Amino acid sequence: MMGGLGVHTSDAASVVPDKPATLARLRDMGLVGMGGAGFPTHVKYDAKVDTVLANGAECEPLLWTDKQYMLHWPHDLVRGMEVAIETVGAERGVIGIKGKYTAVVEAVESALAARGGGSPPMEVCPLPNFYPAGDEFSLVQQALGRTIPELGLPLDVGVVVSNTATLHHLARAVLHGEPLTSRLVTICGEVRAPVVVEAPVGTPVADLIAAAGGLTRDDVTLVDGGPMMGHVVPFDAAMKKTCSGIVVLPTAQPLVQRKLEGADAKLRVAQAACCSCQECTQVCPRNALGHRIYPHRLMQSLASGITHDVRAYLGSLLCCECGLCTEFGCPQYLDPCRMNIETKQLLRAQGISYPDPQETEPSKFFHIQQVPASRLAARLGLTRYLDRGMIPMAPEPLRPARVDLALSQGIGQPCRPVVAAGDRVVRRQVVAEPGGPISATLHASIDGVVQRVDDTTIVVRRDP
Ligand code: SF4
Ligand code: SF4
Repeated sequence: MMGGLGVHTSDAASVVPDKPATLARLRDMGLVGMGGAGFPTHVKYDAKVDTVLANGAECEPLLWTDKQYMLHWPHDLVRGMEVAIETVGAERGVIGIKGKYTAVVEAVESALAARGGGSPPMEVCPLPNFYPAGDEFSLVQQALGRTIPELGLPLDVGVVVSNTATLHHLARAVLHGEPLTSRLVTICGEVRAPVVVEAPVGTPVADLIAAAGGLTRDDVTLVDGGPMMGHVVPFDAAMKKTCSGIVVLPTAQPLVQRKLEGADAKLRVAQAACCSCQECTQVCPRNALGHRIYPHRLMQSLASGITHDVRAYLGSLLCCECGLCTEFGCPQYLDPCRMNIETKQLLRAQGISYPDPQETEPSKFFHIQQVPASRLAARLGLTRYLDRGMIPMAPEPLRPARVDLALSQGIGQPCRPVVAAGDRVVRRQVVAEPGGPISATLHASIDGVVQRVDDTTIVVRRDP
């Protein structure tokens, strides 16, 4: 078996605890959403819906993390779906995977067939290859034909959406009592041997890059997550539970430069160059769902100091930060995405919330407005990395000499340490308790000695 993440179906425990026990176990096993935001899973699953939708779209260019989970351990995904469906009282499960990844679809369909039909019903929904297919709102529309209202949640239309990696670890946590202490992560871009590797939570990014054969050049910037929605991290950063990939890109690449530039400079350029062409709004996936978000109007208002178009500013509160308006829409290389983010933060800081969320109908052009992932990759200058094809899985998990366990692993309250410097810990031992209702337990991800505990991090050094 590769790494420590998988289980054969015959190993799987058959008894799913009742709902309160399941939720408590998810919290105690440290489960958070692994698709990016890190929202505690036990909070999300305290719900009643009719459908569980697995998000296997992995629409960020270059990443192979979720696909490798599904290729190697499709039975864990199916078991995770069964637990999820039972926990939220759903009637069925749908697994969204891009249809172009035929081997992944076949692996999951084989695992479903092995159930012999089974109850509750589950099926694979092959998705078209567009960006952002993995945005929850777009995914729910594409897979189920339901439109989440403005500022809404999948819950509002009877759906819980979970990333497929989360569902994998959910099966491990609930059925086997295994805390979330390691995960797959893709290391790609300007590295000698791009790879997907299992790494303990808290692994230094430098160790991840070494696992991919090291850098191919010096003038690079590291992006945690995908090229579109990921954020720049320093070389001394460490991997969190939410880290699906480290993408190494040339610092001079326009995509990277836009991530590094300050908002003030962007605004000055917008004032000089926005031609009001509306291309940014035409590619906006939330606008395509009928949501009242109009990036071109925000840009015009910011550029000309217009204050009366209140809806243009409020629309920023509906932005999912997908980056499409900036990286694909704008012919002037402006950054309406960043302007939406800045405006949203400003409104929230002033206590201004969206006043009148409403149900909407998607545009009749919803399907033809979708941006093909290959065209996006070409626009971003990423085709040379994509041409390498599938990123392979490392045969062995990483064994870093040290892990830096962040007390904040995602949305919610940071954890409270229960260990001190000098304590000896073993892998899977609790090192920090939930810091509030929206928080999940943190565990040691290696055997070793606690070297340091501060306000943000617990550092554990491996036993020699
Ligand atoms: S980042 Fe741009 S395209 Fe994406 S939701 Fe926000 S405004 Fe729309
Ligand atoms: S696409 Fe660019 S130039 Fe056109 S309206 Fe939007 S920000 Fe302005």
